[in-house]
Amino acid sequence: MRNALVIGNWKMNGETAANHTLVASLVESLEVSPVGSVEVGICPPAVYLHSVGLQLEGSVVSLGAQNLSEHNAGAYTGEVSAAMLRDVGCHMVIVGHSERRSLYHEDDEQVAAKTLAALRAGLKPVLCVGETLAQRESGEALDVVARQLCAAVSGLEADEFERLVVAYEPVWAIGTGKTASPEQAQEVHAHIRTVLVRVAGVVGQNVQLLYGGSVNADNAAELFAKPDIDGGLIGGASLKANDFIAICRAAAVAG
Ligand code: PEP
Repeated sequence: MRNALVIGNWKMNGETAANHTLVASLVESLEVSPVGSVEVGICPPAVYLHSVGLQLEGSVVSLGAQNLSEHNAGAYTGEVSAAMLRDVGCHMVIVGHSERRSLYHEDDEQVAAKTLAALRAGLKPVLCVGETLAQRESGEALDVVARQLCAAVSGLEADEFERLVVAYEPVWAIGTGKTASPEQAQEVHAHIRTVLVRVAGVVGQNVQLLYGGSVNADNAAELFAKPDIDGGLIGGASLKANDFIAICRAAAVAG
């Protein structure tokens, strides 16, 4: 049995006062009306991890980061290590988001190194994979996703698969208002599951698979109803408390 998981990716948005209001609404709403076994996480920008983490203490919402360095420590100006993320209370970290791959040229090798760095520090990596529109239109979506996935997980140990989360995020659906249909998303998720089981054995059945790409309060239920969609990685809609909560509740209903 896999628990549903909903993670908010705030990207480069927020400031102290607004973060406080947003987090207070989330925490209060989930306290008043809990979402059962659904796991909920939020990933603020790195500079706000500490303050948001303090506010989340004692709540059911976990803290996550949006990125990490593949290196442990040293002369890497501007970077943040996995151990530092653990130190400020993170439980998870997004790895290989398509914006990191396209804007900051992270390749499969670097994404693999970051995945390993996260796991070794005790963090849950939320490994993002997904095809561009051109790749989908030329029929390569499944191959692209399998390649990105295998590059990052091929060398992992069985216990590391137990902490892995994979997010399928078609690049053409991120921040565009275009969502993959539940059938398109399920097709890719089923493929990811098959590849995971091939690489990891039965433990691959337990990896939580999230869909991301313009998920909102209206389309979440349909997506989460699919058998291999275990929740969502939510960008824009995670910045509005009511929308994010509605998505968490949709996961609880589907779960
Ligand atoms: C994301 O950034 O991971 C994402 C899915 O964004 P959005 O929900 O805004 O498409």
